[in-house]
Amino acid sequence: MEKEPEKINYKELGLKSGLEIHQQLNTNKLFCNCPSILRNDNPLFTIKRKLNPVIGETGDIDIAAEYEKSKNKTFNYEVYDTNCLVELDEEPPHNINLDSLKIALEVAILTNCKIFPVTQIMRKTVIDGSNTSGFQRTVLIAHEGYIETSEGRVGIETIGLEEDAARIISSKENETTYRLDRLGIPLIEIATKPDLKSPEQIKEAALKIGEILRMCDVKRGIGTIRQDLNISIKNSKRVEIKGFQEPKIMIKTVELEVKRQLELVNQSKSINEVRKSLPDGSTSFLRPMPGAARMYPETDCVLLKISRDLINEVKKTLPQPKEDLTGYLKKYGLNDELIKLLVQNEKVEEFKYLVQVQNYPNLIAKMLIVFPKEIAVKDKKNINEIEKLLNQDILEAVLNEINKTISENDVKIVLQKISEGKKLKDALTKEKIDISSEIEKLIKEKPGLSMNGYMGLVMAKFKGQVSGKEIMDELKKRMK
Ligand SMILES: [Zn+2]
Repeated sequence: MEKEPEKINYKELGLKSGLEIHQQLNTNKLFCNCPSILRNDNPLFTIKRKLNPVIGETGDIDIAAEYEKSKNKTFNYEVYDTNCLVELDEEPPHNINLDSLKIALEVAILTNCKIFPVTQIMRKTVIDGSNTSGFQRTVLIAHEGYIETSEGRVGIETIGLEEDAARIISSKENETTYRLDRLGIPLIEIATKPDLKSPEQIKEAALKIGEILRMCDVKRGIGTIRQDLNISIKNSKRVEIKGFQEPKIMIKTVELEVKRQLELVNQSKSINEVRKSLPDGSTSFLRPMPGAARMYPETDCVLLKISRDLINEVKKTLPQPKEDLTGYLKKYGLNDELIKLLVQNEKVEEFKYLVQVQNYPNLIAKMLIVFPKEIAVKDKKNINEIEKLLNQDILEAVLNEINKTISENDVKIVLQKISEGKKLKDALTKEKIDISSEIEKLIKEKPGLSMNGYMGLVMAKFKGQVSGKEIMDELKKRMK
């Protein structure tokens, strides 16, 4: 008989994992003022270059560099009118883009990081030709932060800014063609500590960081975010898996990588390497792990000073985290479903305003979310159309009539009438229906029905004119 596949006990295996997330920012380029746009038309011209591996300050050529040097390639660069001499490495970098810096500071604050008051722009050796200069500029902005997950706090090691690389267009044995449109697009790099202990926690942390990023001005869509994962288990060396596009396949990838490492540990083999994430959750060998000789200071840039004033300016316009909105709404005693809908539909600002007009939090949440949807479905109308009619001014006016011309229970009916095109004043006027005698008449006509039976008949007859509660109260008076 075939054995059931054993469930992996990650705790026992000592899984340790850290995430590294790169996200393109929605600003001009990091060290020149060129727009960060990708081009699909023909380039202005193409230049041809050979690349010499750059020797790091420590004197030894990086092992990753050595690995690539053996290939001895020619590189072609496609140049566009949205490029300047900086991307061509013919002009020194300009000052760091202030918008990018502000976004990095926003993310740093939202992830509880300490911001460096002074920091050094560095060069990171890149040997595959994807940078015309042979290096990538990178700068640390903040460190020592954290995010919360349901399995505990996850440390944020560092937050940095760096230049995106040129896009690879084609590659032959000894010749690679790159497009310079992507070179220099600002990337924020967020690296967590190796605090992640299960595939589920890895996914949760990736989603959480993604959520924080999307609160800020970042680019959207495929290819704008890249997620790498460091994974190790007990007695195994750290392996880096590059290039997750989606957190979806993370759990499976982690599972397969842990199994792979476990086999190596069992065979007493160990290899330190960089692997690439594949869509089916498996990974393939990419290159050996780079050594420590990769970084040295960018002498073309002065030290970057991050002033208190700048940090305070960023704090003033900090995007509101969703968790805070949830916490805020919880204080009003709303149920989780209403809270979720208010946040998802971006109705929290309207809620905040209206709840100050009249303190009916539950009713206001329904006025914003539930009633318009119900009316749209019932009248087969577009929800946007209904919401336009039931705008904030109208909702405020209706709220102000509670305990004057209408009761809390009448609100839905009033909104229904307004969405049918009635003016506020007319909608507020109750039609004179003597519900009491109507019910009495009905019971005489059709004796012996259940409470629900009568309820249904009365509701059908006075649809939208009398509240259900009012009918129910009348019925209860007569029936037991
Ligand atoms: Zn440029």
